[in-house]
Amino acid sequence: MTTQAIFVRQIDRLKQSFGERAYSKEKIELIWQEVKNLKDNDLTLLVDNLIADSRFAPTRKDFREGISNLRLERYYEEKKKISRESERMSDEIISGTFKFIGKIMQGQYSAEQVKAFADSVKSKQRACRFCDDSGYVFTKEKNGPYENIVFKCKCPIGKQNEDVFPSWNADFAEKYELMN
Ligand SMILES: [Zn+2]
Repeated sequence: MTTQAIFVRQIDRLKQSFGERAYSKEKIELIWQEVKNLKDNDLTLLVDNLIADSRFAPTRKDFREGISNLRLERYYEEKKKISRESERMSDEIISGTFKFIGKIMQGQYSAEQVKAFADSVKSKQRACRFCDDSGYVFTKEKNGPYENIVFKCKCPIGKQNEDVFPSWNADFAEKYELMN
């Protein structure tokens, strides 16, 4: 929401640039209806642009266009930011997961640590009952000694994993059980 004081200040700026008579009381009220949902900073930025780029006193239509341009810009900025963040996140998750799994396979972690890791991977999403969409099936040997084995899940997400782990199947299920 626009603060009224900020709005009044912006109207003063417009009057200074385009003349006192360019903005009647009625015109100001109509412009208020257009801009009242903007944040103060956005309104100030919009008026910066209108003052800098307009030959004549900006009309309600100019405000409308300015607002939709502003929204579009924000939308693309936000979209870019989100895709950059998610790219970085998934890179980190994949390389982190891969390193950890390598160490699991070398027997460097205790069963508790493996379980905690499996839980953290699985907590992200939940769909596939074997891997919870992590692509990896975390198991332990049924009859001890607790050997942790990681399999590649047979679901579509597991198939995307380009690694050397054996695929989880019914034969393995005889010897290993899911960690949960
Ligand atoms: Zn799966």
